[in-house]
Amino acid sequence: MSKEETLDRRRAIKRTVALGVGIGALGAMSPRLLQANTADPGQTSSNSDADLIIVGAGNAGIPAAIQAADLGFKVLLVDKNPFIGGMLNISGGHISGADSKLQIEKGIEDSPAQHYRDCMRMGKYSNNSELLKIAVENAAAMIDWLVEIGVEFTPESPAFEDDHEHYSSARTYWGPDYGRSLLGPLRLELEKRIERGDINLLLSTTVIKLLQDDAGTVTGIAVENGSGKASSYMAKAVILTTGGYGASQALKEKYNPNIAKSKVVCLPHASGDGLIMAQQAGAELINMDHFVSFPGAINGARGRLIFPPTHYSQGIWVNKKGERFVNEHSMNPDERERAFLAQTDFGYFMILDNKAKMNDEIGVKGWNQQELDRQVSKGVVKKANSIRELGRKMGIPVKPLLATVTEYNQAVFTKVDEKFNRHRLDSPINEGPFYSIPITGSILISHGGVAVNPLMQAIEPSGKIIDGLYAAGETIGSAQMMGTAVLSGMSVGPAITLGRIAARNACQYMQYQNNRVASCLITET
Ligand SMILES: Cc1cc2nc3c(=O)[nH]c(=O)nc-3n(C[C@H](O)[C@H](O)[C@H](O)COP(=O)(O)OP(=O)(O)OC[C@H]3O[C@@H](n4cnc5c(N)ncnc54)[C@H](O)[C@@H]3O)c2cc1C
Repeated sequence: MSKEETLDRRRAIKRTVALGVGIGALGAMSPRLLQANTADPGQTSSNSDADLIIVGAGNAGIPAAIQAADLGFKVLLVDKNPFIGGMLNISGGHISGADSKLQIEKGIEDSPAQHYRDCMRMGKYSNNSELLKIAVENAAAMIDWLVEIGVEFTPESPAFEDDHEHYSSARTYWGPDYGRSLLGPLRLELEKRIERGDINLLLSTTVIKLLQDDAGTVTGIAVENGSGKASSYMAKAVILTTGGYGASQALKEKYNPNIAKSKVVCLPHASGDGLIMAQQAGAELINMDHFVSFPGAINGARGRLIFPPTHYSQGIWVNKKGERFVNEHSMNPDERERAFLAQTDFGYFMILDNKAKMNDEIGVKGWNQQELDRQVSKGVVKKANSIRELGRKMGIPVKPLLATVTEYNQAVFTKVDEKFNRHRLDSPINEGPFYSIPITGSILISHGGVAVNPLMQAIEPSGKIIDGLYAAGETIGSAQMMGTAVLSGMSVGPAITLGRIAARNACQYMQYQNNRVASCLITET
């Protein structure tokens, strides 16, 4: 290895440690394994003795690698980050599933069929029913397996989760350290297989292209390391578990221009690489027109709105036309999300008066009176002595805003909100100064992705299977599980379940290929 290459490796390791500490040390591999596995791909020739290549060592990729290794196949696991775990490093890590041992022990009545019906109803029946059925029917086995490998869930799990529309039964589980509670034990399981020589992990290595033979069968990958060196690896099958495209400005502008200005909360690796590579290899991308941007981020500042049942705002939400558009106190987050998605540029304002400020009932996580004043001085929050002046400062039509506030104050007086049926009508907005906080959306997951059949094989627009190519996790798009909604625990859980199933099917495919080659050989002999 040249002096320059040694330096590159040192820099990569330093970066890993720094990032590992910053995003949660769990994503960092143990130093000894890290040293062995940030190896510069170096050679420009093809090199690999792996049966299966998995692109992306995240939520779906790690369980897939573990599964394939346990079935006796050699795995090359490649990640462009200098750490493992992908989105699990920051994810809430909530997973949902019916009939797990934990749920049965608690005596909670539930069934995969009920889980399926809930998901279909909430997703407005636009979920992929076949894939969803596979995910919910295997969810209990996935959760039991997580417990077996040492994942600890909070004592209240499984429970109802308030960030999303409630299921009909308590079936959401999470660990005390959220996504990292899952990543810790998964990392240990991965390390065991690496030590046994069943999995070879390449970090800081970006896969840039899928390699195909003349018949279109996927035969390997082309990669680039941190210093731009190219190399290629061949295998009998490839699984794409590269995550979503929430951080790709180019893809959002192409497919979902209306949400392109929303705040990006997911990590930068979610740049849609798997979608692009799969499409270049002939795969169809589906559900690309749908993207959920979560309402509640503050436009231009840190912080986010707090919603019921944690907080019942004294303020009202108005859109750019100066009109209310939803029950601000709705107990159903799905109602808020859908109403928000219907607003121009996905933006709105929360209007408060001085009473809310003085009572420290601002409704933004971590904000008190001083923070509100600080944001006024920064120009993020607008402040005015009258609603008319506030409307002018906000740059929205003043007349409708005045009418909206008057109508709301009347609702407080009569205790009836005819338009949106808000129940808590505690305080009119009538004491200046008045404040307007600009709200935008935040991007956590993407709904569009690679079309796959129930064996997790990538398929072309014609429905033809792309031999040797599989996909799982957010690469197949969240809409396959969630339809047009966002459902509690239905990204992290299915990433594990379908990642493992993709690996099992890829292994069967490889077995079949081996047998076919073997029988050809016999025939020829
Ligand atoms: C803040 C936040 C909270 C969330 N909370 C929840 C929750 O509570 N429950 C839930 O169900 N969902 C939640 N989600 C969504 C969920 O975490 C993700 O959808 C899921 O973890 C994605 O898993 P994945 O394996 O598909 O991708 P990831 O875990 O993102 O892994 C993808 C991996 O592929 C690698 N990669 C990408 N491109 C390449 C390339 N070209 N070459 C090599 N490697 C590449 C990346 O570096 C990464 O390690 C949340 C998301 C966020 C951002």
